[in-house]
Amino acid sequence: MKTTGKVTGIVSNLVTVQVDGPVSQNELCFITVGDTRLMAEVIKVNGQNAAVQVFESTRGLKNGDSVEFEDRMLEATLGPGLLSSCYDGLQNDLTTMTGVFLKRGEYTDPLNHEKLWDFTPVAKPGDKVVAADWLGEVKEGWLPHKIMVPFSFKGEYTVKSIAAAGQYNIDKTIAVLTDESGEDVEVTMTQKWPVKVAIKGYKEKPRPNRIMETGVRVIDTLDPIAEGGTGFIPGPFGCGKTVLQHAIAKQGDADVIVMAACGERANEVVEIFTEFPELIDPHTGRHLMERTTIICNTSNMPVAAREASVYTAMTICEYYRAMGLKVLLLADSTSRWAQALREMSNRMEELPGADAFPVDLSAIISNFYARAGMVVLNNGQTGSVTFIGTVSPAGGNLKEPVTESTKKAARCFYALEQNRADKKRYPAVNPIDSYSKYLEYPEIQEHLAQRIRPGWVEMVEKTKFIIRKGKDANDQINILGDDGVPMSYHELFWKSELVDFVILQQDAFDQTDALTPLDRQKYMLELVLSICDRDFKFDDYEQCRVFFKEVINILRQMNYSEFKSEKFNNYQEQLSKILDNGN
Ligand code: ADP
Ligand code: MG
Repeated sequence: MKTTGKVTGIVSNLVTVQVDGPVSQNELCFITVGDTRLMAEVIKVNGQNAAVQVFESTRGLKNGDSVEFEDRMLEATLGPGLLSSCYDGLQNDLTTMTGVFLKRGEYTDPLNHEKLWDFTPVAKPGDKVVAADWLGEVKEGWLPHKIMVPFSFKGEYTVKSIAAAGQYNIDKTIAVLTDESGEDVEVTMTQKWPVKVAIKGYKEKPRPNRIMETGVRVIDTLDPIAEGGTGFIPGPFGCGKTVLQHAIAKQGDADVIVMAACGERANEVVEIFTEFPELIDPHTGRHLMERTTIICNTSNMPVAAREASVYTAMTICEYYRAMGLKVLLLADSTSRWAQALREMSNRMEELPGADAFPVDLSAIISNFYARAGMVVLNNGQTGSVTFIGTVSPAGGNLKEPVTESTKKAARCFYALEQNRADKKRYPAVNPIDSYSKYLEYPEIQEHLAQRIRPGWVEMVEKTKFIIRKGKDANDQINILGDDGVPMSYHELFWKSELVDFVILQQDAFDQTDALTPLDRQKYMLELVLSICDRDFKFDDYEQCRVFFKEVINILRQMNYSEFKSEKFNNYQEQLSKILDNGN
């Protein structure tokens, strides 16, 4: 029998309910308001009283309205058809809607139940299987989508029968499994999973040991992110967080992309909703959307739906990871998620932490980031979820709680700086404050030595040293004036400008410059460092400035030219001539 209850109090979306039976934390319930049913989640239980957070507007709700508890948590529906979809935080399908908004009390089905999928069995009768083991496969777009033993299954099962190769919809039984007590259970191509619980079903979760190529030079060359790693991009409004994330989404070496768009304003989300499907995948020439799922929400959606969206996105990522795929999760911006947490905790009149965020904000963020990672599946193959979130600190203040908590949780830090954005030095990543802790992992260092070249990490350190030296020199020049410092200061400064203009700065809107594969990044860094290694004997700082401006100009042209094309080679010849004269 289902537990039921009556509404006793309403503060915006927070509703208190007197219950007649057991309810559990995070359980779902429905409140009947006239002829609509509003979905809500239990966020606090106290004796016969439950506090529930309604996922939509509570307009018209009154004391005494009846509530029915579901005895299950908020779940994601998983199965073929998730890719190319655009959902809200509750997995309502936004593409079937006119506009981005549903009517109140309207919930749509995330997956198409009629569509037929070409199924190929992988397991055979008699096989012993456990949760997450692969039973068969369908093609979703051009990706192999594994049909797995549902994650909720406990213990070992024996495959009793499995469907022959053929076309089936997601509700058709494709396998019958016998559990340890001899009972038969049917498996279809779809399953559900509570979004706030991490999907297990793998053998181990080792430390990341290789990098994920993004084509973005400030990331790959300077502070690489590991496959299965975590990173975050804090930055004030308009500094390029979204542009940088979209570049990573477009170019990143991943099989599946999940974009969790938590917009500040509705139009930003409508943008991703309309623009993303137009993007072409530079690796395959196909629509990027074919291997993407978008989860959208805007700040005018109710707080609980906003809070749920990042969990729904992560659950979908873990699902694809269990198929042995490389998944990239991008959340923009996680500050909106943290604000949703804050709104909820404030309405609950909980004792607030810093800036009125919940006291356990840091733990909530860390637990979320911890769901990313590379895993070794039961069959020995690997899958990964790489997670990069943006943070939009109010007024660009990096000491605020969300940035500080995220800094503890994420291992890469890409700080976007107002000052660089104002000077149009994009991507405006501050090269001195930013870091990747993966560079310190011996297994990553070894991987970089093999994949790029021996001594690569030393070259990266040297590059960072040049940037820091250049900054110090520039500070001195600004204080003492051009004539007040030795010539070597000017040279140091211009060498750092060379690194800045050629390696750090990258035009996200130029097809060639936007995507720099690793071999090209290696080539350019070697070239730039070979120039920085020279000890030029300039007569005066004006000569130094003219020389470096010319060199920078040529190297920038190279960045905009097809790698090793005739044009590229011509620029390189020009460069050699100038360098010969300069010495
Ligand atoms: P945010 O998400 O931080 O508010 P956006 O990503 O929307 O900022 O970027 C704001 C603007 O900055 C963009 O519209 C674009 O004009 C410029 N911009 C950001 N990054 C780049 C880049 N890598 N190359 C060129 N322009 C950029
Ligand atoms: Mg943005």
